[in-house]
Amino acid sequence: MFGGGGVSVRMEEEEDEVGWCSSDSGDGDGDDDIEERKSQNVDALLRGNLVVKRQSLLPRLLSVSQGAAVCRKPFKPPCSKSHASASAYNQDLTRKLSARKRFVPWGSSSPIPIPIPRSALDDSKFNVAVAVADVAEELKPSLPPGIDPLVLWHPQDSEDANANFTTITVDPLLVRYLRPHQREGVQFMFDCVSGLSTTPNIHGCILADDMGLGKTLQSITLLYTLLSQGFDGKPMVRKAIIVTPTSLVSNWEAEIKKWVGERVPLVALCESTREDVISGIDNFTSPKSNLQVLIVSYETFRMHSSKFSSTDSCDLLICDEAHRLKNDQTITNRALAALPCKRRILLSGTPLQNDLEEFFAMVNFTNPGILGDIAHFRRYYEAPIICGREPAATAEEKKLGAEQSAELSVNVNRFILRRTNALLSNHLPPKIVEVVCCKLTPLQSELYKHFIQSKNVKRAITEELKQSKILAYITALKKLCNHPKLIYDTIRSGSPGTSGFEDCIRFFPPEMLSGRSGSWTGGHGAWVELSGKMHVLARLLAHLRQRTNDRIVLVSNYTQTLDLFAQLCRERRYPHLRLDGSTSISKRQKLVNCFNDPSKDEFVFLLSSKAGGCGLNLIGGNRLVLFDPDWNPANDKQAAARVWRDGQKKRVYIYRFLSAGTIEEKVYQRQMSKEGLQKVIQQEQTDSLVAQGNLLSTENLRDLFTFHENIKSEIHENMQCSRCQTFDGPRSTEAQSTITDSESDEETSDIGGFAEIAGCLQNLKRSEKQVGSPLEEDLGSWGHHFFPTSVPDAILQASAGDEVTFVFTNQVNGRLVPVESIMSPKLQQKDPKKELLKSKQNGKQKPTPFSLHNRLPLQSASVGITKNISMNVAFKPQYSLVSKVLPQKRSCPANINDDN
Ligand SMILES: [Zn+2]
Repeated sequence: MFGGGGVSVRMEEEEDEVGWCSSDSGDGDGDDDIEERKSQNVDALLRGNLVVKRQSLLPRLLSVSQGAAVCRKPFKPPCSKSHASASAYNQDLTRKLSARKRFVPWGSSSPIPIPIPRSALDDSKFNVAVAVADVAEELKPSLPPGIDPLVLWHPQDSEDANANFTTITVDPLLVRYLRPHQREGVQFMFDCVSGLSTTPNIHGCILADDMGLGKTLQSITLLYTLLSQGFDGKPMVRKAIIVTPTSLVSNWEAEIKKWVGERVPLVALCESTREDVISGIDNFTSPKSNLQVLIVSYETFRMHSSKFSSTDSCDLLICDEAHRLKNDQTITNRALAALPCKRRILLSGTPLQNDLEEFFAMVNFTNPGILGDIAHFRRYYEAPIICGREPAATAEEKKLGAEQSAELSVNVNRFILRRTNALLSNHLPPKIVEVVCCKLTPLQSELYKHFIQSKNVKRAITEELKQSKILAYITALKKLCNHPKLIYDTIRSGSPGTSGFEDCIRFFPPEMLSGRSGSWTGGHGAWVELSGKMHVLARLLAHLRQRTNDRIVLVSNYTQTLDLFAQLCRERRYPHLRLDGSTSISKRQKLVNCFNDPSKDEFVFLLSSKAGGCGLNLIGGNRLVLFDPDWNPANDKQAAARVWRDGQKKRVYIYRFLSAGTIEEKVYQRQMSKEGLQKVIQQEQTDSLVAQGNLLSTENLRDLFTFHENIKSEIHENMQCSRCQTFDGPRSTEAQSTITDSESDEETSDIGGFAEIAGCLQNLKRSEKQVGSPLEEDLGSWGHHFFPTSVPDAILQASAGDEVTFVFTNQVNGRLVPVESIMSPKLQQKDPKKELLKSKQNGKQKPTPFSLHNRLPLQSASVGITKNISMNVAFKPQYSLVSKVLPQKRSCPANINDDN
């Protein structure tokens, strides 16, 4: 996870070696997920029902919706400064647009004509019919009927007409195979590399289409066109270099031969001896050579880059899997950047993560200087954009951030094209994401305060300290938030991480420990209640197991936390499976198959967030808990995608547990606004970075190690949320009356029907409903819940107890109508005995808003399916020393028994 130089500290020292196959792994190696998506895309392409939609290369920060998303631009003469008349523009534009209306499926010899509507042709304003006829006659194409030629450039009928300009048209050999979006892509790249872009200094482009949409064919089409044609009749490109990962060199060679046969003389340097490589390169660069294309790996290019310093060694550079150029400090990147060739095409199938610096590196490689230098970029774009996304940003900062983001989008969308299959997301059921803030237990609070007040931590804040130390402290606090047992283990082992927890054994309740040896016994299951999050999780599992047939995935960064999950499952006799870094590849698939097998009585899947990345399909579960926030937001996102993916039939619940007022809220908050702490911390401390807020200042560090003990949610507090202002904090039951007036449609809609099914739709206040369809990082527009009764999830309502202090919810729509969970109505009645026990144990507790719900029966919606669901009573089992007997072994998940 720690890419790039500087500090080489492992964030979690005991962690598994296997990382997520994150989209930026950059190796172009087989990722099951990508392969799966690719085959779906190719499938749709072959069936002829592919619908593409344009997207941003940096999806979380930039958009393509602000203008400039149009691929097509009117023809423009390459040299003439004169502007063609509007009518000529329109004519050319229409000619092009009409040309892309037909296609044949890949691999098929029978074309599928898509008729151009007569009305469009008859539109005298554009005079289309004449234009099309002109072109057709001029070209005499040997195209099958129904396929229109693809004219990339056409000389204007202007004063330049006597210049020696010729039409540039894609060879019929290739155009017959191009799908509409591929025609568009070829045109887009042509406009960029031939200097036809309306923006000066654009000579390169990034084609970032999703896997399977045909980036290779589009590039080969352009390559072949430029090697044979040009504005003045002479080829625009004499020599081209294709740089690719080693594993793809021969693949490129085969693809070129497949599409254009022997028409392009090329040399591919693959598995050659050093002598062969050198002679191959010399052969290619020699002025007398007839070789037009060199295919070479990144490594080979880097080793021999000096051989390409001559200005005429290359007229077109194509970099495949180009996301590896996101770091401009690598030797390979610098060697390629130094190549005296302006026309650069970068191919990449994966969007970048939330990182503007990597984005800048790729853009600056493609079109050097187009966004100014890095200092200007940081000041002008990056700082305001990041600042505007901080939850605590002022309205002014947000506005500036949005403006700069829009401006940057418009600028880069002129030369970055990314399309995805618009239909792929349609097969998913609705999803709800719940950020659940839980308070620490008294023991956790005690240890937390003790630690942050220790002299080591104080010194860390005030003095210049090794970054590794700070990371170790953060890790210690994160572990404490998960469960004090993790800290106990650390202290007992006497490992260096103990500093700050000296003498802390005395805080632990003696009943957890064996009297003689002092080793951990867990107090016959009572250990669960020593952590706020774990306590909530235990109730959540119990309710799920008793009332539904849902299965759940539990994710943590720490194998020790997985150990605790496993112990919980054993004690409660829940069937469970575990996958972490030590699980062999062959075993992984067995575990996955087992979990997804409906005939088996499986319930919990324990997953290490570092081990379970790619290809894991856990659609047997429709609920997933992210127990601790990861440094890298992409990891959390990928974990959530294990269950919300093709094949999932049920509605999906993603829970993100955070300990209120602690480091976890801060980590998550930074995830949402910046690239996480990871990068921030690892950077070398320089004045310029501090000035831009890219580094943790003393103030930042102090904030990081501050504990807001009684806060419901620090993130919410920092928002200074205007939506909740009227009833911030505990409110009386009278205040529960619903505000129904002046609500907009957006606010009233219950996306995915979660609130209705949970029986709380009728009672929701405005602040408890999300505003429209907010982005993941826009927590301000999510539903805000001080009370569990309003959370559109019956299971969480019942499981919240006194530990949950605040919940953010975000409902996401899916086109798939979900198969509803089987929920048992049996457990609506409270067990009087249990209630008695509970009231004895809870005697000392003060009612907080989240505990009020136990006394407030919900009004279940009296329609349809909700009748069958038990929501009315917030059933709250108390798993303490007495409750080990509660959930018992069952043979069938749907067969619900209350053992009491
Ligand atoms: Zn609010």
